[in-house]
Amino acid sequence: MKVMAQVTMVMNLDKCIGCHTCSVTCKQVWTNREGMEYAWFNNVETRPGKGYPDKWEDQETFKGGWVLSKKGKLVPKLEGKMGKFKEIVHIFSNPYLPTINDYYIPWTYNYDNLISSKGSDKQPVAKPESLFTGKKMDISNGPNWDDDLANGKYSIENDVNIKNNHLEEQIKSDFESSFMFYLPRICNHCLNPTCASVCPSGAIYKRDEDGIVLIDQDRCQGWRFCVSGCPYKKIYFNWKTHKSEKCTFCYPRIENGLPTVCSETCVGKIRYIGLLLYDEEKVIKAAEEKDDNKLIDSQLDVILDPFDENVIKNAVDNKIPYEWIESAQNSPVYKLIKKWKLAFPLHPEYRTLPMVWYVPPLSPITNNVDSTSLFADIDNMRIPLEYLASLFSAGNTDKIKDSLKKLLAMRYYMRTETINGKGNNYTIKDVGLTPDDIHGMYRLLAISKYNERFVIPSAHREEAENLLDDRGMFGFENTCPEDDVKPYFNTAKK
Ligand code: SF4
Ligand code: SF4
Repeated sequence: MKVMAQVTMVMNLDKCIGCHTCSVTCKQVWTNREGMEYAWFNNVETRPGKGYPDKWEDQETFKGGWVLSKKGKLVPKLEGKMGKFKEIVHIFSNPYLPTINDYYIPWTYNYDNLISSKGSDKQPVAKPESLFTGKKMDISNGPNWDDDLANGKYSIENDVNIKNNHLEEQIKSDFESSFMFYLPRICNHCLNPTCASVCPSGAIYKRDEDGIVLIDQDRCQGWRFCVSGCPYKKIYFNWKTHKSEKCTFCYPRIENGLPTVCSETCVGKIRYIGLLLYDEEKVIKAAEEKDDNKLIDSQLDVILDPFDENVIKNAVDNKIPYEWIESAQNSPVYKLIKKWKLAFPLHPEYRTLPMVWYVPPLSPITNNVDSTSLFADIDNMRIPLEYLASLFSAGNTDKIKDSLKKLLAMRYYMRTETINGKGNNYTIKDVGLTPDDIHGMYRLLAISKYNERFVIPSAHREEAENLLDDRGMFGFENTCPEDDVKPYFNTAKK
């Protein structure tokens, strides 16, 4: 066992109101520059829908994530398609990239026209102008182009999950069957990141102390293999600097014990940040799980119990600071992911072991609810279980159902407790929870106090070097041709 710490986020999709505050505040801090106009490290998609960039989940087109070879070993889908030799040949022309039209052409408005136009009796207008060419343009795409469209014909036709799982019959586009929910997305700071594996320059690294994935701007040569390799399309090419950039999990804030900007400003209070302890030696085995139905369990198996004496001893031996172990014990994300099993990773079948997890959304309950009919509605919810399973559990509907049952049981218990003065134990026993669990879930999910949502220890960068192995490397294999290359921080000033 090799115990490592990973800073992790959970988002409760039931509470996201699609206000895009997270996207805007992130943009103001990180991508408010020439060359990055089209880039949104944090974006919020309406589901069903095509997402941003268009149809990013279509890995037949973009070749992101990992696949299993015939021998059951992990191979980047990109490499499987090209082969090592072809990868080098394609270094100057990688065909598996989204085009700028798949993102959108960024624009501004001719505001000067509003102020300076004169001599006309017509109301002046500010027309859109391309930020690339400066010329007038018609807007035909954007980072939230299908915002709030719900399951209309356009969304259904363009949603990769619906097409790949043949859900067109099940997801009807008539008004009475309409549903939608929001899906905020950032880089998942994966435990097994393909972006790092396919980078020919070895510029992408995962920080030893907290697992944040970063790009060394000095090393990046702008080959853009990472853009194809990341199945979530969360690496963006800066056309001005010719380097790739990505979400940094606001590491300067995290190092000071503060939440990321998107989490700090989240209006719905849907985001939780905390530490997880995990067994680094189990990562590859978990990603190599052959049965898609078992992927969630194999990924949960990597996450360790921070109260287990053996885990604590190994963590101490591996020089993880005591405050970090304590922080992992108080971690809200540990409770949501492992203790109550309410949250899931986005597309676990990409096998990157994402470290941003999601509590799936409940649909409106239409029937009168009592303890006998409570769970009967789950199979007929407006958001089909198969659709949620396609997003969050590699198609395993039982896992999603278990989580939704627990969320329903919590609502029912708290309602009966508030109205009758006593919670209904019958329902919560059915889902394997105790009244203490229910109160804990309610406090975290509904009350959402700031200090309970964000439990972040400040950094001990001076300890990071102790976590390296004999080669001076951490975690995944270094695929950089120069084998002696060390992670960037190793040379950084302490
Ligand atoms: Fe890399 Fe982030 Fe994509 Fe994971 S989500 S593969 S860490 S860019
Ligand atoms: Fe959702 Fe929070 Fe972002 Fe608003 S700020 S869109 S509630 S994640």
